[in-house]
Amino acid sequence: MKIIVPVKQVPEVAEVKVNPDTGTLIREGVPSILNPFDELAVEAAIQLKESHGGEVTIITMGPPQAKDALYKALAMGGDKAVHMTDRAFAGADTWATAYTLAKQIEKMEFDLIICGKQAIDGDTAQVGPEIAEVLGIPQICYARHIEMSEDGKSITVHRETDEGYEVVKARLPVLITATKGLNEPRLPNIMGIMKAKKKPLEEVDAESLGVPEDEIGLKGSPTQVRKVFPPQKKAGGIKIEAEDPKEVAKKLVEFLAEKGAI
Ligand SMILES: Cc1cc2nc3c(=O)[nH]c(=O)nc-3n(C[C@H](O)[C@H](O)[C@H](O)COP(=O)(O)OP(=O)(O)OC[C@H]3O[C@@H](n4cnc5c(N)ncnc54)[C@H](O)[C@@H]3O)c2cc1C
Repeated sequence: MKIIVPVKQVPEVAEVKVNPDTGTLIREGVPSILNPFDELAVEAAIQLKESHGGEVTIITMGPPQAKDALYKALAMGGDKAVHMTDRAFAGADTWATAYTLAKQIEKMEFDLIICGKQAIDGDTAQVGPEIAEVLGIPQICYARHIEMSEDGKSITVHRETDEGYEVVKARLPVLITATKGLNEPRLPNIMGIMKAKKKPLEEVDAESLGVPEDEIGLKGSPTQVRKVFPPQKKAGGIKIEAEDPKEVAKKLVEFLAEKGAI
């Protein structure tokens, strides 16, 4: 079974701040990590390979330093990697990102694509479903449990919903997005880390991808970010305290009356 896992390198979001004057993200000095939802996707792919055999290919579109995310996934147990890197890919919105990834995936053999549910920086959860649309294959989003059939031709997925979960079965090829609870991603061991840099890693640029220039990067992006700003800080609430609940209720009524709310 051939499994492809698209992964994104993201900044450690807890440390990202917005420059209030320019409205841009301050990325300097912020460490980069493999998107945590993508770790779930990599783990799911490796577990399927371990139980059903096959090969796991990790793919990313990103700047040169995004290679570190590929190495981490290879150290976890991925077999090979594809790094789509070119200045022409820069500034891509979710559509151009998905289109660029899908055009490369189209050239590769695959039975299953496993994405993360969302990237913790962009947070749109659009790239996975958009890749499936470009490829014209079914998608099952928010997977928290995956079961491959004995013959390896279909997959059953428990997908999270607002009310509980749905059980969906699909014939391969299919694209799945991974959510929390799917598994516990393994930590790469020393042997895995040492082997990672010796595994095949192919670089793909815009020319070798062979798609029109106006379909990729900023030129191929229909979305425009007009303004980025941190949400306004909410003022803290007040706490009404007293020994007797009746006294609390009385104080609350007085407070609301004072504010003209009743
Ligand atoms: C006009 C515009 C300009 C932008 N310019 C930039 C820019 O210059 N630099 C920048 O970093 N961001 C830029 N962005 C943000 C960029 O569009 C998104 O980060 C990117 O398209 C992915 O969307 P997301 O982060 O919401 O991913 P989601 O849709 O939340 O990701 C879901 C899953 O898709 C897969 N995935 C997502 N992105 C990738 C990837 N690159 N490679 C492989 N798999 C992936 C992963 O499995 C991930 O878990 C720009 C956005 C817009 C609208």
